[in-house]
Amino acid sequence: MDFDFSDIEKAFCENIKGLFDPDSRSALAKLENADDNQIRNVLLRSLKNLGQAGYLTLGLDNGKNNVGLVAAQEILAAISPSLFLSVEASTRIFGRLIAIYGTPDQKNEFLPALKEGQLIGTVALSEEGMSIENNPLNTIGVPVDDSFQVSGSKSHVVNGPIADWIAVAGKREESLAFFLIKKDSEGLSVGKRLPSLGYNGTAISTISLENCPVPSKCVIGPFEGKDPLKIVRLWEDQILTAGSLGLMQRCYEIALTYAKNHKSGGKPIIAYQEVGFKLAEILTILQTAQLLAYRAAWMAESGDSEASVVAHCAKVFCTESTENVASQALQILGGYGYLGGNAAEEGYRDAKYLQIAGTSSEISRMKIGDGVLGWD
Ligand SMILES: Cc1cc2nc3c(=O)[nH]c(=O)nc-3n(C[C@H](O)[C@H](O)[C@H](O)COP(=O)(O)OP(=O)(O)OC[C@H]3O[C@@H](n4cnc5c(N)ncnc54)[C@H](O)[C@@H]3O)c2cc1C
Repeated sequence: MDFDFSDIEKAFCENIKGLFDPDSRSALAKLENADDNQIRNVLLRSLKNLGQAGYLTLGLDNGKNNVGLVAAQEILAAISPSLFLSVEASTRIFGRLIAIYGTPDQKNEFLPALKEGQLIGTVALSEEGMSIENNPLNTIGVPVDDSFQVSGSKSHVVNGPIADWIAVAGKREESLAFFLIKKDSEGLSVGKRLPSLGYNGTAISTISLENCPVPSKCVIGPFEGKDPLKIVRLWEDQILTAGSLGLMQRCYEIALTYAKNHKSGGKPIIAYQEVGFKLAEILTILQTAQLLAYRAAWMAESGDSEASVVAHCAKVFCTESTENVASQALQILGGYGYLGGNAAEEGYRDAKYLQIAGTSSEISRMKIGDGVLGWD
């Protein structure tokens, strides 16, 4: 097993850190209380910088989750979890969908703008429950002349209120298709931003489609012999796994800094053994989670036959560890941590989403079991 970073990868990661000066970091810190317009503006500004640095092309052309991608994602997620989620939904889900499955015309139309960070996209899988296998897609496209009349809905869509384009998964004549729908299209209603426990700097809403006309050139699919829904879920799970590493990193850093600087009883609290033990445990969990996440990416990169089972193991372990790490970090921050507006408290709220979204912890565990039994 060799997943050392090359000098180029290390320099690339340093470059990503350097993209965010104190002014842009302070704008990102305010995202939690920003409105849709402010979120869109911050996102577009950040996308432009990330595009110039090459972040938006990672894994786009081959759709592969690799070690270098995880390293870069971990850094962005540690800088701003909400920005990370929005960027990844646009780039690594919507962008990859076009890059891997789009027609040549769709690639020409969307990819340059996506790579330069000029366009915000998202993907809505319109099944009604967590499990794609158990729940049919509820969006239907009915052919009319050279277009489709698309109707359906989705209860939660990341970037919903701010996206320029939404790819909605649905059925066209019993086959799977993704309908590319432009904002303000006739028949598209985007709900108000939904309040949520965490990731408050990410704009999430419902969308619904009622006889929305979609020209044939804006449809991806049918897919012969391929299972793009499974692939999209793998992309999502990988993003949530890398996102959890960034969240843990943030929590560790704030807890360590606080423990060294905050005094109680006349000495920095790190001098108390119980606080030191918590930091030791946080670091141990973070290091273990990194090893597993990078191993999962390395297995995907090298085409290992057990890559998908290990990817589920990584998603479960990393996302559940994030809640534990954030909780311990918040405890170290004491009353200040509980009052809110700090990375530990934010991380504690964000962590739950990581276990629920994509393939949930419950379904991931079932898939690990199935994989071990050879049923996958
Ligand atoms: C904030 C947020 C943003 C989202 N953004 C997007 C997006 O941009 N695009 C998109 O397509 N989707 C998005 N989703 C949707 C998400 O991926 C799920 O489809 C959705 O949350 C399903 O929720 P549910 O409560 O209906 O699931 P349910 O299926 O009702 O699940 C409820 C519980 O039952 C468990 N469960 C369900 N089925 C099984 C089973 N077969 N075996 C064992 N346990 C099971 C689940 O693990 C969960 O614990 C988002 C969700 C949230 C919360």
